[in-house]
Amino acid sequence: MSGERSLTRAILALGSNLGERAGTLQDAVADLVDRPEVRLDNVSPVITTKAVGGPAGQPDFLNMVIAVYTSLTAMELLAHCQGVELAHHRTREVRWGARTLDVDIITYGEMRSTDPVLTLPHPRAAERAFVLYPWSLMEPHATLQGQPVAELAAAAADMPGISHAPEAQA
Ligand code: ADP
Ligand code: MG
Repeated sequence: MSGERSLTRAILALGSNLGERAGTLQDAVADLVDRPEVRLDNVSPVITTKAVGGPAGQPDFLNMVIAVYTSLTAMELLAHCQGVELAHHRTREVRWGARTLDVDIITYGEMRSTDPVLTLPHPRAAERAFVLYPWSLMEPHATLQGQPVAELAAAAADMPGISHAPEAQA
């Protein structure tokens, strides 16, 4: 990593509800930091989230967040995340809502953006317990737009559908 370019801390959210979900998340984290411009700083536990909407019997999601330090720009980081998604989308299924891998940028430093291609902070993060809860486990004092992440998680409508994923722990 260049000592000249400044580093930005970003929070990334990962989710999977198809295939070898825990293995996919583990591989995706490795892929995301498998370049010199991205360094892993922190990793949350993996949690299980009940799938809402879509057809009945859809597998639950496994979700986690990570913190990275990166010299990539926000747009470069988005392209990198989408590349990692694509690498895990070889076994796409038609069922609505089922995802081998989704990687979202939750925050990129203090950057704010209303660009639909990259909205920052992620526009739905503040109401998604599947992002907020693992983030609060990773960083109990984290804030999102001035609000404690743990409090946002507790207030989120999907919090009752969330549990720890013991089978996914290392
Ligand atoms: P979702 O994550 O909402 O289920 P997708 O992963 O298919 O859906 O992403 C849809 C679009 O969201 C992408 O084309 C991307 O450009 C855009 N997007 C906007 N803001 C963000 C962000 N903060 N992180 C990731 N993608 C984003
Ligand atoms: Mg996404």
